[in-house]
Amino acid sequence: MTDTQPAMILIVEDEPKLAALLADYLAQSNFLSMHIANGLDVIPAVRAAMPDLILLDLMLPGRDGIDLCRELRTFSDVPIVMVTAKVEEIDRLLGLQLGADDYICKPFSPREVVARVQAILRRAGRQRAPAGNGLVFDDELHTASYHDQRFDLTPVEFRLLKTLSASPGRVFSRDQLMNNLYEDYRVVTDRTVDSHIKNLRRKLDAASPDKELIKSVYGVGYKFES
Ligand code: CA
Repeated sequence: MTDTQPAMILIVEDEPKLAALLADYLAQSNFLSMHIANGLDVIPAVRAAMPDLILLDLMLPGRDGIDLCRELRTFSDVPIVMVTAKVEEIDRLLGLQLGADDYICKPFSPREVVARVQAILRRAGRQRAPAGNGLVFDDELHTASYHDQRFDLTPVEFRLLKTLSASPGRVFSRDQLMNNLYEDYRVVTDRTVDSHIKNLRRKLDAASPDKELIKSVYGVGYKFES
């Protein structure tokens, strides 16, 4: 995985013991978490902290989970897992088409919750890992697309494009790019980088003929143009 930042999970749960248990299990799997017990605090917290996933209990003081899920979907596509105390409730929730990503019934095994969280984040990462400006990477298939125009990349080109586009406008020297290209410290020359860039540009040009996305900076290296 190229993403080193741990994912932040927002636990919305009014039973403190349950929330603490979930937080523990999530921490063991290297997730960060924050906890909210009152429904009224959820929307402001999501706007401020931008969590990577929300575990949303259905019955809450202040506002209920259904109401919250609806409002969240008006401004965010953050993955939402709804947690309900009644298994019969799940059918009703599905019928409401709230846009939640998954449903879990209490009592649950915290291990199972963590496994579902991991699965959803993997799926979300694959579907949308926006690098900004219309570029989307698919880590599993090693493809990228630019405004829905998909193109295949070699592993080296994939890493190169990811590195450049993660910091639009930043100029990378060939040395810096080379360090990111090969994990096995293979000896590469400046020319190698140039030829990978050349191939990458050809593919990008096909996807975006009217815009030069990778620019050469004379005497220094390359940058991704936003
Ligand atoms: Ca509750």
